[in-house]
Amino acid sequence: MPVDIVVMKAVNAENAARAAEVRAVLNQSGVLGLNLMSSPGSGKTTLLEAMFKHWGEDVRSCVVEGDVFTSIDAERIAKHGVEVIQVNTEGSCHMTAHMLKEILPRLALENTDVLFIENIGNLICPASFDLGEHRRIALISTPEGADKVEKYPKLFSVSHANVISKADLADVLEFDIAAVTKQLKKLNPEAPVFVTSAKTGEGVAEFCEWLLSENKETDN
Ligand code: MG
Ligand code: ZN
Repeated sequence: MPVDIVVMKAVNAENAARAAEVRAVLNQSGVLGLNLMSSPGSGKTTLLEAMFKHWGEDVRSCVVEGDVFTSIDAERIAKHGVEVIQVNTEGSCHMTAHMLKEILPRLALENTDVLFIENIGNLICPASFDLGEHRRIALISTPEGADKVEKYPKLFSVSHANVISKADLADVLEFDIAAVTKQLKKLNPEAPVFVTSAKTGEGVAEFCEWLLSENKETDN
């Protein structure tokens, strides 16, 4: 209905304005902002842990953990000595740029190279909310099944890179990595596809390298 559309536009305009402010602060601080999006349990936190291990002290990261409730993931991140702030959305299924804007002053951006935003586990609406990040990363894990790309195409088409996680389980789950890679490339030809396993370390170094080679000053 027309009234609903007007409301949506207002919300989106408001979000876009906040996102631009967040991106300006990150640019000013020389911080690369990354928005990680996927369904729950696809291995966002686990991938982060593997990346922190890979980088060690070379790259200074901080994390904004989005969760509907609990701080379980934030506690895992904190164990790596990485600065982390938990956002509980109390039921909301995605993060907004307004949340990020509120949180930025609490982060030590002057001591940060990369800010990870671990979005709420959800394959739908996170794709529609710019958080002020420079790059959006979408994950699909092998246990979810290959059909998720086809069922939720938006998330994998607005991303700057797509990651297939838990690759070590592909054979046993009969998840055809080559076919899904092809599907992702067809949907989003610009975005590289990384095949990773936090367990074996496969693809983690390549993904880390790509993240840092990207030009963070470009607009979203
Ligand atoms: Mg997580
Ligand atoms: Zn939502």
